[in-house]
Amino acid sequence: MEIEQIKALIRDVPDFPEPGIVFKDITPILAHADAMSTIIDLIVVHFGRGTVDKVVGIEARGFILAAPVAYHFNAGFVPIRKQGKLPWETASEEYALEYGTATLELHRDAIEKGERVLIVDDVLATGGTAQAAASLVERCGGVIRGISCLIELEFLKGRSKLEDYEVHTFIQY
Ligand code: AMP
Repeated sequence: MEIEQIKALIRDVPDFPEPGIVFKDITPILAHADAMSTIIDLIVVHFGRGTVDKVVGIEARGFILAAPVAYHFNAGFVPIRKQGKLPWETASEEYALEYGTATLELHRDAIEKGERVLIVDDVLATGGTAQAAASLVERCGGVIRGISCLIELEFLKGRSKLEDYEVHTFIQY
């Protein structure tokens, strides 16, 4: 399936979850067997088998993409979650939102020293979430293999926060 066909499946939802935000709804992609398998395959081909030890998914939509990617890499899956959700000892990282701050957490023992880690999420917007995730992985001993997001909102310049990393996106706005 072509990327343009996959892009056409994305549903723009204005003023969700708050006024002024155009939410990129990827559920029509997730529900489309060819679109979903194309995306997962392209991520695996882009980074290459044998180059990733752990795939980190960012709550919540990142989980959905990261788990099948991990399976195809024969890599482990590791969740990064919002504060207070993970049951074991965590490392946590606070980052700036448009208004206020948020905190992401990672189990301290989820990544072994030197493991090559691919971070996966649905949308790269301001880059704060991906930057916090990368910092958590590094603090826990991982080496960032790359960051893969389905959608990149280029006008928010999230990439500028991630210059140290290989950032791979499929669909840009
Ligand atoms: P940011 O930290 O600004 O890069 O925001 C990225 C996170 O927020 C990702 O986990 C996305 O799921 C979510 N996100 C940000 N903007 C949007 C949007 N316009 N549509 C859907 N999700 C978004």
